[in-house]
This record gives sequence, structure tokens and C-alpha cells, in this order.
Amino acid sequence: MNLIEHFIDGKTVKGSSKKKSKVFNPATGEQSAEVILASKSDVDLAVQKAKQAFNDWSRKPPAQRAKVIFKFKELIEKNSDELIKIIVSEHGKVYEDAKGSLTRGLEVVEFACGIPHLLKGEFTENVGTDVDSWSVRQPLGVCAGITPFNFPAMVPMWMFPIAIACGNTFILKPSEKDPSCSIKLAQLFLEAGLPQGVFNVVNGDKEAVDALLTNKDVSAISFVGSTPIAKYIYENAAKNEKRVQALGGAKNHCVVMPDCDLDQAVNGLMGAAYGSAGERCMAQSVAVAVGKVGDKLVNKLAKKVESLKVGPGMDKNSEMGPLVTKQHLEKVIGYVDHGVKEGAKLVVDGRNIKLQGYEKGFFIGGCLFDHVEKKMKIYKEEIFGPVLSVVRVKDFESAVKLINDHEFGNGTSIYTRDGDVGRTFASRIKIGMVGINIPIPVPVAYHSFGGWKRSLFGDQHMHGLEGIRFYTKLKTITSKWPTGLTSDPDFVMPTLN
Ligand code: NAD
Repeated sequence: MNLIEHFIDGKTVKGSSKKKSKVFNPATGEQSAEVILASKSDVDLAVQKAKQAFNDWSRKPPAQRAKVIFKFKELIEKNSDELIKIIVSEHGKVYEDAKGSLTRGLEVVEFACGIPHLLKGEFTENVGTDVDSWSVRQPLGVCAGITPFNFPAMVPMWMFPIAIACGNTFILKPSEKDPSCSIKLAQLFLEAGLPQGVFNVVNGDKEAVDALLTNKDVSAISFVGSTPIAKYIYENAAKNEKRVQALGGAKNHCVVMPDCDLDQAVNGLMGAAYGSAGERCMAQSVAVAVGKVGDKLVNKLAKKVESLKVGPGMDKNSEMGPLVTKQHLEKVIGYVDHGVKEGAKLVVDGRNIKLQGYEKGFFIGGCLFDHVEKKMKIYKEEIFGPVLSVVRVKDFESAVKLINDHEFGNGTSIYTRDGDVGRTFASRIKIGMVGINIPIPVPVAYHSFGGWKRSLFGDQHMHGLEGIRFYTKLKTITSKWPTGLTSDPDFVMPTLN
């Protein structure tokens, strides 16, 4: 059985723990590897190595750090097919989708190549007579990232390229469900010339996470995952005096206005609801049908959902792959069962799909609910599967209220041909990322990614300038070079003179 180890101080290591977790190929349902789950002492060792590496790495000129990152970018491009296949084999998503997610991660690496420019400070000559003042941003120390299963390359790449470019060292604790991609990325970064100990990967579960949260030498924690764990990370990182950004779950609404180009809206919704089998924090899982558009929308959607091509991720014809694990498949089926009991109308039922040759794979077909109501569990909770709920509302105001009342605030979008409606929606909606005729409004690397409400605990979003701010602390220096007589002691608060 293939054994997945940690990557500490530039080497793969087994560590001291005997605990392991199974890794599956979701398309076949067969176990493909075992991953070692780190003990507290394994995590502490990684932190110690990262702390040692910080001294030299943080002092390297940003332009030299950029050269290593540029080489890393080239190596990712060169090894992209292998990385994509690793993603497909452990996550299950289809090849082209995995490729898209790797590309979005790569864009953050490209952004980090501009670090000399991004770290430029501010300078004011003569804040007082012959007194100058300037501000610089300096790295924090050892930073840690804890990431979810659904983007094994992209989400870690929102974090570590920027943290490392800023001069920090990094410990990544990826999801134990699909850990191999992180190890490959760490090996490539080493090959690119990154010194040992700057980027470490520790595989593990709650024990490893708690060890990171309580280790005094970890300065900052970035987390992406479900809301209950995000809240736990936020509270405990703060309790242990760490800087923290903790991104949580989502329930994203797509508003379909009666004036929109309905075919565009339907195609947008199909990709956004069923792409990656709905296992995206930016998946659109609720279609809000405004006014009389409901019947037409549901009819068009139903035809497309019924003809969705479900299959293994490596099959070029597949539009949607399996779910990540058997437990997750059972959870999603449980939600669909519940929706039927709650009285929503199941227009397309994907529960009993069977694929020849892949009978043990974790597959479910696309599911479509109509007449879903605000009080239902399938509306309130994140399902994280290929289940789209249509909620019907009478007008635009009701759509805005519905979305603003929901506990999550990650992404949303609206389909309309009316610029005023689109602009008003973007302005009034209490959501972090908004699309106007764009189904999945994931910001590019030089903007920042993050939700509102219970989709993000903390102040700063990921990547872009927010990422630079998160991984650096501000220092402001005021200086004067007096010549001649020493001035007398001054006991009043200094003012401009
Ligand atoms: P998860 O919360 O179960 O796990 C995320 C990470 O936390 C993993 O590394 C896991 O090992 C660790 N973890 C799990 N249980 C823990 C515990 N009790 N204590 C400490 N650590 C623990 O999430 P998941 O199932 O891997 O990913 C899916 C979730 O992630 C969804 O809710 C999705 O919306 C969310 N997500 C959010 C974003 C975003 O940007 N907001 C992006 C991607 C995914």
C-alpha cells in the first residue's frame, strides 16, 4: 500500500505517529494509499525547522525570493499533467476542472513573483523639520495553513506562495482525504531552490491542527473549510495570540431575473451547481427564480440535469465526477431524502445512478429540487454535492432579503439585462463576492477572495493585497540626523515643527 508521509525540512519523513487514515480513488471506490497522521511532536518538529529556516529566508532580498518563486511557477507548468492527475485520482473531479483549479492556484504564484513591488513601503520626507518617516511591512515568522479536501492545489496555493514570498516560512496541513498534491508541490518548490524548512507539509487530523494552534512559535493561521471548524480555529488561534483568517462554508444563491437571457442563466447555473459535483465553496446551490420565470427555468434546467454526463474524472466525456468519499456520498443522499420528506419537489433524482465498471465509485447524479422553502433544512444547510434547489420569490426585493437573511455570505450572482438591477444588487447584497451575469465570481489572484457573515471569521481575505497584509506586519520608522548642538529635553508631545 502506497504510504503518504510528511514533508519536513526538505525531506519526506514518517514521523513518530502510528495513526493512519485511508485515501481512496473516488471513481473506483478503492483505497489507493494510507496517509500518516502526525502527532504533536511531529508538528512541533516541523515548526522548529520552519523557525530555524526563517532567519535566513526572511533576510533574503525580495527580488531573490521572487526568483525562486518564478522557478517554482515554471516547474508547476512543466509538471502540470502529473499534478492534475493526482488531483483527479484523490478528489475525483474531472481532468479539465482539475486543470482549471491548478491554473487558478498558479495565478497566485505568478502574483507572488511581483513581491519586490508588492512589499514597497511608504515614505514621507519632512514629516517635521528634517524628520523623515517611512513604513515597511515585515514577515510574521512561521505561518500555518489548514486546508479542505475540495481544492487540493488551489486553496493551499492561495496561502503559501504569498506567505513565503513575504519572507515567512510555512507549515501546510492539507486535508487527509487528498494529501498527495501538497507533497508534490513541496518537492517542486524545493527543486526550484527554496531552502529546506521554508515550506513543510504535515499530514494529520485534529491532533495536528491543535498542535499548530497551541504552538507558541506559530504566528499566524490561515484556514479554509467548514464553518464549525472555521469558528473553532478562529477562537483558538485568537486565544493563543495568533493572527487568523478562517474561511468557512457557503450557500450561494443565483438570482434569475425575468428579463435575463434564460439560456445563459441555465448554462451558468449548470456549471456552477454541478461542476466539481457541487463540491465548491462557490457552487451555486440555490437558484432564486424571480416573478414568472420559475416554470421556464425549471423545465430548461431539468432537461440539462437529466442529460448530465456523470463518469470518472479521467474520462474525457465526463462532465461531473464522483464525490470524494463514501461517507460524503451518504451525507449528500441523506440531504436529498430529507428534502423529499420536507415537501420540496424532487424534479430530477440522481440518487440511484449506477455506472458500468465503476459500481463501487462514489457517484451520484445531478439532483434538482423545485419549490424549496426558507424553513427547509436543504435550504438552510450547505449540502456540498450536486443538488440545486430552486426557490421561487415574487420580486427583486424578496430575492435580496432572502440572500441577506442567510447565515452564509460567500458568493452570489444575478442574471439580468438591466444594468440598474445589477448595480443595485451588487451594492445592497451582504455577500463577499458578487457576479453579474457571471456564475462563479471567484476573484483573480491580484484581487482577493473571501466571504462575509459565517463564511469568513477574521478581517482579511485571501491573496491579492489582502494576502500581503495578512502575512506581514507594519512597522513605521521616524528618523532625524541632527548636526550641531544637542537639543534640550522636550517634555511636550511632539508636534509638527
Ligand atoms: P472540514 O472543515 O471538514 O476540514 C477542513 C480542514 O480542517 C481539514 O484539513 C481537516 O483535516 C481539518 N479538520 C476537520 N475536522 C477538524 C476538527 N474537528 N478539528 C480541527 N481540524 C479539523 O472541511 P472539508 O470537508 O475538508 O471541506 C469542505 C468545506 O470547506 C465546505 O464547507 C466548503 O464550503 C468549505 N470551503 C470553503 C472555502 C471558502 O473559501 N470559504 C473554500 C473551499 C472549501
